[in-house]
Amino acid sequence: MDIAVIGSNMVDLITYTNQLPKAGETLEAPDFAIGCGGKGANQAVAAAKMGGRVIMVSKVGDDLFAPNTVANLQQQGVDTRFVTTAPGTSSGVAPIFVDDQSQNRILIIKGANQQLKPADVDAAAGALKSCQLMILQLEIPLETVYYAIDFARQHDIRVILNPAPAVADLDIAYACKCDFFMPNETELEILTGMPVGSDEEIKRAGQTLLKRGLKNLIITMGARGSLWMSGDSVHQVAPTAVKAVDTSGAGDAFIGCFAQMLVKTGDIATAMTQASAYAACSVTGRGTQRAYPDADTFQRFLN
Ligand code: ADP
Repeated sequence: MDIAVIGSNMVDLITYTNQLPKAGETLEAPDFAIGCGGKGANQAVAAAKMGGRVIMVSKVGDDLFAPNTVANLQQQGVDTRFVTTAPGTSSGVAPIFVDDQSQNRILIIKGANQQLKPADVDAAAGALKSCQLMILQLEIPLETVYYAIDFARQHDIRVILNPAPAVADLDIAYACKCDFFMPNETELEILTGMPVGSDEEIKRAGQTLLKRGLKNLIITMGARGSLWMSGDSVHQVAPTAVKAVDTSGAGDAFIGCFAQMLVKTGDIATAMTQASAYAACSVTGRGTQRAYPDADTFQRFLN
């Protein structure tokens, strides 16, 4: 295995409706869909679809969603040996309400993801040690994230930390132990308390984080592309122009593809260019994982 994702999985429960019920009211909604999501699983699937050898450490609940989550990861080529059940808990779920303007209202119930503990990292240690790269996000307990970062450092595994969803009390000392810190602009705003309305503001906010000791800061900026800052250098990648249909999960597509391209080419700028195009391709389809292209489809998109 080359890439380890220690992170979340969620089941998206998507109701399409223009009207939400008031207290005591029952309404009928026109349509419903189930999707596999969660930042960790999304990133693992994106990397695997791009040809990565990916292993995931994650917790599913003790319920009917769990077998589907594991089967989906396996179908996408992710090694699930260390996707285990947390007895007596529900799987992580995200009830999502989408109206006809494509506005999302999302609730997150982390469920089993909160049971992913440092002991689960230890249980997978044998397999993790052979990986070149570890990807972490913040939908699992912070103590597990910190433990995994220290584990990776001890074993010379490079680390990507995606500080999402943003938590204001993230210990920046741990972010500095990572090789890549990859927030989107909203997360950057929450972490720094600084405005991020323009490219210049984003660069200023990024500089304040770099001054605290980050190695490589990669900021995704939605339809405005992405930015890699390291020391005094700034490398901006223009977005790939597409007609966006659904941008959910674009950041996860970017990170998963970036990870696989970094392992494959060893070059950060190349990995960013590929990730930017891959994420753009993903926003042309509906949903998260189901909109991530495999390597062949992505190649056709590029040509
Ligand atoms: P998140 O999903 O975390 O909010 P972003 O919205 O920053 O992440 O998107 C991640 C990346 O996806 C961007 O850096 C960009 O490369 C690509 N992307 C997102 N939206 C678009 C878009 N409308 N057109 C082209 N590329 C996009």
